[in-house]
Amino acid sequence: MLRVSDLVVRYGAIQAVRGIALDIAQGEIVALIGANGAGKTTVARAIVGLLPYRGEVAFEGEVLKPNSAERNLRRGVALVPEGRGILGTMTVQDNLLMGLYTRRDRAQAAKDLAALLERFSILAERRNLLASLMSGGEQQMLAIARALLSKPKLLLLDEPSLGLAPKMTDAVFAMIQDLRREGLTVLLVEQKARQTLKIADRAYLMETGRVITSGPASELIDDPVVSETFLGGR
Ligand code: ATP
Repeated sequence: MLRVSDLVVRYGAIQAVRGIALDIAQGEIVALIGANGAGKTTVARAIVGLLPYRGEVAFEGEVLKPNSAERNLRRGVALVPEGRGILGTMTVQDNLLMGLYTRRDRAQAAKDLAALLERFSILAERRNLLASLMSGGEQQMLAIARALLSKPKLLLLDEPSLGLAPKMTDAVFAMIQDLRREGLTVLLVEQKARQTLKIADRAYLMETGRVITSGPASELIDDPVVSETFLGGR
């Protein structure tokens, strides 16, 4: 579904991503794991078209253009950004409505919003509340719900567990598994390697702008080098 080849991203003199390749098949949860500053966010932002880059990103056989986030979103590639990107001074409902902005099928979009509020009952209860008044976990759910309203085929989630209590992280990861069961394809960017490998099919491990290893998540979780580097030696 997604094929990334020779991806290079620079911020001025800094080469944040140094030529990586990555594939995602339909229906997979693929994890992109690495420490702070490894380049994971940069890869995710490049894939969705929020950055200029060299190399190629192809989605469903078509080459995507750099800096074309809105077009990519319409094609079905959505990002839940690091830090969630919730507008705290707006209500939960208005944040959700932002997720509909690429939708032209208004009647169906209204139905999707209603269905989503049924599914995320916490958001329905709080729809008139300012988003900033919700907990971190609730805001993460809001960010995911908002992205879902664009009807993505491929959803990229950038560190959805950041700053969340363990219980909330579990809830977010369970939600990601539910979404995959419903047919969504997922690229999960995370620092929490062990937990991420438990729900992923395959993973890519990044260090200083490069993929240093990749493979089935079930194998990587038992790989001694991986556990030394990314799992704190446990
Ligand atoms: P984190 O978990 O902290 O988000 P990451 O693996 O996602 O880390 P990136 O945020 O992609 O890493 O950063 C990769 C490198 O690029 C880092 O060295 C970072 O300092 C640098 N970098 C990121 N954003 C910018 C920017 N806007 N301008 C300059 N350098 C940047």
